[in-house]
Amino acid sequence: MAVKSKLLFNLLAILSFLFLSVDTYAEVYVAERWAFQDKPQSFTLEAGQVISLPLSIVPNGKEKHKIRFSSQGTLFSDINVYVCDDKNKDYVLSSLNHGCSHFPIDGDRILDINNVNGSGKWLIIDNRHSVFSSKNVSYTKYTTFQVDEHTSNVIQSELSNVLTGLQEVIISPVFDMNIAPCGTANAFSEQKSGAITLCTELLYKAVLENNMEAFFGIFTHELGHTFLNLWGSPNFTNEKTVDEFAAALLFIIENIESKTPQPPNDLDVSAQNILEGLIQFFSDGSNVQGEVGAAFAGNQHPLSIQRINHLRSIISNPIPFVKRWTSELYPKLTTYALQQIIDKPHIGANIDLAKDIIKNRQSCVDVELDPVGCKVVPVSTEMVEGVSKVDGINNTPSLTQELLSLSKLYENGILSEEEFEKAKAKILDK
Ligand SMILES: [Zn+2]
Repeated sequence: MAVKSKLLFNLLAILSFLFLSVDTYAEVYVAERWAFQDKPQSFTLEAGQVISLPLSIVPNGKEKHKIRFSSQGTLFSDINVYVCDDKNKDYVLSSLNHGCSHFPIDGDRILDINNVNGSGKWLIIDNRHSVFSSKNVSYTKYTTFQVDEHTSNVIQSELSNVLTGLQEVIISPVFDMNIAPCGTANAFSEQKSGAITLCTELLYKAVLENNMEAFFGIFTHELGHTFLNLWGSPNFTNEKTVDEFAAALLFIIENIESKTPQPPNDLDVSAQNILEGLIQFFSDGSNVQGEVGAAFAGNQHPLSIQRINHLRSIISNPIPFVKRWTSELYPKLTTYALQQIIDKPHIGANIDLAKDIIKNRQSCVDVELDPVGCKVVPVSTEMVEGVSKVDGINNTPSLTQELLSLSKLYENGILSEEEFEKAKAKILDK
């Protein structure tokens, strides 16, 4: 697990680098027990044949083995499964008396094997009692283990940084995040709260396939569900919209730099690379396609060939695609993020729009109602000079209210420090 853990920390370091952070209001929960599932195996066991599979139980771990047999639809009771230590394994294979645990098989069977502290143990599948009947065997190993406190704390704090970092870039209500076993290589965005669960099985699978880009891409996809949901978009369950949103977000924020030093990492986190990793993840291995295809927000949203092709077409010509999305996404970005885009434009950037939004925000103090409530008001001299002459109603707020509103804008990261000071001076000058 050492190498895999290292990769994981790399990913987390990258996430926290991308979304720099100051402090947080959202919660991150890291489950005490994690789970992962090895790639399912399928093979045929001929009549008279026996095989032994090594059991490599992780420290503080517990394995569950799901073994399914079939034989051209016929019933059978001539197969045996054993769990043995090294010595008894040899006894079983030599058909001698042995001290192995014996599991008679009647179709589907989940074997629970308890932690043996990594000592050598074997799973033996024995079809030697059968004279004629070969068996088709599908075998999945599911492992759960206790995460040590230190690892858990590191992950918890890194993910907290990710969430607070997101708040610096994107204007959104806060949401929680979970790292937890789900029973499947999956990720979820909870409809009610927008909380995101990244399943440990998905993380493990990405590590196993050396494709952390895909994990990052799936995380961004779930962010798409969550943001669109929390912003009140009726399309937040539309997979195609969410795919596009995630892809656009990756391109739009890819040049946004952290104020904090960049931790060392060996992952290329460009939008292009992450999307390619995602496509590869979901295109690989036709026999597991169905299983991993469900990784997008639950089983009801399988990643279809159409969606993979759609991602491919985005990558092949991203500029017009990104351009279309700037008007949707820029108003949801913080002033800090927009300023970064102006300084270091992403492909298909709309600098004028970013400038307009920033200018508009500087003139807007009506933030009590909605932090992005000023977004649609066109910039006019009247708006810049005065305060709220809209509708001809004299609702000029008090000096205190204005200052409070302004400081809230600053606290929420919508205004930079410089903008805040300027606007404050303007209010006090009146
Ligand atoms: Zn989805």
